[in-house]
Amino acid sequence: MELDSLYQEVILDHYKHPLHKGLSAEKTVQVHHVNPSCGDEITLNLLLEGDVVRDVTWDGVGCSISQASCSIMSDLVHGKSVDHALTILESFSELMSSKGSITGDEEILEDGVALAGVSKFPARVKCALLGWMAFKDAALQGRNEEKK
Ligand code: ZN
Repeated sequence: MELDSLYQEVILDHYKHPLHKGLSAEKTVQVHHVNPSCGDEITLNLLLEGDVVRDVTWDGVGCSISQASCSIMSDLVHGKSVDHALTILESFSELMSSKGSITGDEEILEDGVALAGVSKFPARVKCALLGWMAFKDAALQGRNEEKK
């Protein structure tokens, strides 16, 4: 897989120095997602405070794309409202399903645009989306918890 070298660096940097990795003790909900086609696994703890993402921590194993993408995601959604976080996720999903036709909005996705090239490799899109789907699952479950 050939990605732009600058983007490659961003991905490797997140892979080597992942953000928010290491599960927190406090959480509203915990989810575990796997991507069997590559062997990637992510456990994610989400702590909500009302409708705000107070903390997202995670642990995982797998390829550099899955782990870097989860690192990028966890930093992007930190401190945002759940609705805002889900719009970022929407934007990232759109990028991943673009097959390389769009480059992504850096204002919204920040380091996430580094993964744009992955959209040209359908087999790897699931790797990139794993952490994001785990977050979405946790956010929807967490929101129900908060309403109880
Ligand atoms: Zn993978």
